[in-house]
Amino acid sequence: MSSDATPRPALWADVPEDQWNDWRWQLSHRLNSVEDFAKLIRLTEEEIGGLSAPNKFRVDVTPYFASLIDPDDPDCPVRLQVIPRARELEGFESMMVDSLAEDAHSPVPGLVHRYPDRVLMLVTTQCASYCRYCTRSRIVGDYHATFNRRDHDLQIEYIRRTPQIRDVLLSGGDPLTLPQKILEDLLQRLRAIPHVEIIRIGTRVPVFLPQRVTDDLVEMLRKYHPLWMNIHVNHPKEITPELARACAKLADAGIPLGNQSVLLAGVNDHPNTILKLCHELVKLRVRPYYLYQCDLVQGSGHFRTTIAAGLEIMETLRGHTSGYAIPTFAVDLPGGGGKVPVLPNYLIAQSHGRLVFRNFEGYISTYTEPTDYQRPKKTKWVPDLPLAQQQQRGVADLLAGKELAIRPEGWDAIHLHRGSYAPADASPDGAADASTPIWTKFH
Ligand SMILES: *Cc1c(COP(=O)(O)O)cnc(C)c1O
Repeated sequence: MSSDATPRPALWADVPEDQWNDWRWQLSHRLNSVEDFAKLIRLTEEEIGGLSAPNKFRVDVTPYFASLIDPDDPDCPVRLQVIPRARELEGFESMMVDSLAEDAHSPVPGLVHRYPDRVLMLVTTQCASYCRYCTRSRIVGDYHATFNRRDHDLQIEYIRRTPQIRDVLLSGGDPLTLPQKILEDLLQRLRAIPHVEIIRIGTRVPVFLPQRVTDDLVEMLRKYHPLWMNIHVNHPKEITPELARACAKLADAGIPLGNQSVLLAGVNDHPNTILKLCHELVKLRVRPYYLYQCDLVQGSGHFRTTIAAGLEIMETLRGHTSGYAIPTFAVDLPGGGGKVPVLPNYLIAQSHGRLVFRNFEGYISTYTEPTDYQRPKKTKWVPDLPLAQQQQRGVADLLAGKELAIRPEGWDAIHLHRGSYAPADASPDGAADASTPIWTKFH
């Protein structure tokens, strides 16, 4: 065994090096039952209950990832992510099956079009190992219901016909578990669409199955630049020589790497854990991208933290460490509102021309604004983007002075009833005025 490798548990001590390093061997020797795991770790009653439950979300763990588990520590953060506990079957308030309403936002199966200029393209339901808190457990893991050639054709056709899409995010399931030929075919077809500017892959393969990041795979991927990749590491224990090598190959091929973590109770909800994780990621040339609040998805109840826990973590990062090591803490809004960043308040007061800020140490200072600044109306360097302007622009339009307010559906009907009650002595002029909604005066 090379010295630069994760120590191998006794269970696999005799596996020849070339087999252990072969991703196909890793996939075909995944652990998924009480018997499998009992050979490796001292299972708790909770874990035996979780593993024995008949209707559980699919379990499968690569031997490599399982080798990172502490066999004697039931609180091991690697273990908690992939071995089910009986509690995972318990419901909680506001629990949902599809908490991000992805299915409702899919014009064709597996293509979620929620933001104006980018889409999420689910290309497979298979992963190298399965995270217990999976936000797509409603579809992920099912052998019989994966996305097929016909689905891919429809997804690509939708992207081709929708010119405002400039960013396509391949996810699933895990795109890097697809046969390489199929993945390359998808990348090739997306690259052939002129308005697709960037392609991104969201994958946990470098973490669960770093052996899959072969020279051959990387040579293929680099043909489709600009290609970006987000990996998913939650805890410093997942940072190994194997992951480091996989990231080095990808980064050397010019693929910018990001990381998305999920804030998980018992796994990474201490500020020091995230700080250490982010430092280790930056050393691997992986930029922390998002830290997600855990979704309201079935199976994740025992992983959920308060949002305050995330804010406290953000407070310990900003200012205390490199900006490159700080992810955006985001809540993906239930019902399909998309990702909303949440951060501690640094702006503590504002008056005309003067703002008061505090820094990470509690130092308080003021910034004086110019009083003669003019907002740019338009720029001659960049053309107007007509499609983007047709989208709902929300608070941006309030700031631009194009709208005075954003009113929930039905709001007008409830509130605009001026004149619907006319006293007997109301003047004719007043009655005429009342029929004009006040808002039309503003537009
Ligand atoms: C997360 C996500 C994206 C990408 O969002 P970014 O903030 O650009 O990373 C796109 N579409 C959907 C549906 C998503 O959930």
